[in-house]
Amino acid sequence: MLVKTTDLVQPCQNPNCEAKWFVFDNTTKPKCPFCGQPYHGQLPILNFYYAPSHGKFISENYRLMVYDKQTLYKWHANNLVSPSERISDADKKPVGDFHFFNNQWILINRNLPDMMDVTEKKTVAIGEYVPLTEGRQILLDKGQGGRLVVVQLVNN
Ligand SMILES: [Zn+2]
Repeated sequence: MLVKTTDLVQPCQNPNCEAKWFVFDNTTKPKCPFCGQPYHGQLPILNFYYAPSHGKFISENYRLMVYDKQTLYKWHANNLVSPSERISDADKKPVGDFHFFNNQWILINRNLPDMMDVTEKKTVAIGEYVPLTEGRQILLDKGQGGRLVVVQLVNN
């Protein structure tokens, strides 16, 4: 199972919640199991695909739940990188971050030289951003093991 629990957590929107974070249970009506607070707003989910060989993408049942100011790492962008102790210092640095800005979720490219908005067929240079809209496809890394993201939006 490639699903990593840490990638499925969401901050609880109840400021008085003692748990503060909860694991998304894959329903279309997410709510905190500790205090019962339902999630309000748009919740982006990134569904990952990776390329075992060049240009062929397959689903790996691996998802990332997005929240404001969350960071994206090299191990999200490439299947061959894993968040272990032996990871290099360069690979520990965030390669992107997510923001809810002007009523829209965006991913800012911080260090992904290959990043491309596949839906719009344009490159997303370092320092630029791509909006997270339903069905949008974003290439994170074009090398071997590189990942492609398909955006899913849950509205509540
Ligand atoms: Zn809660």
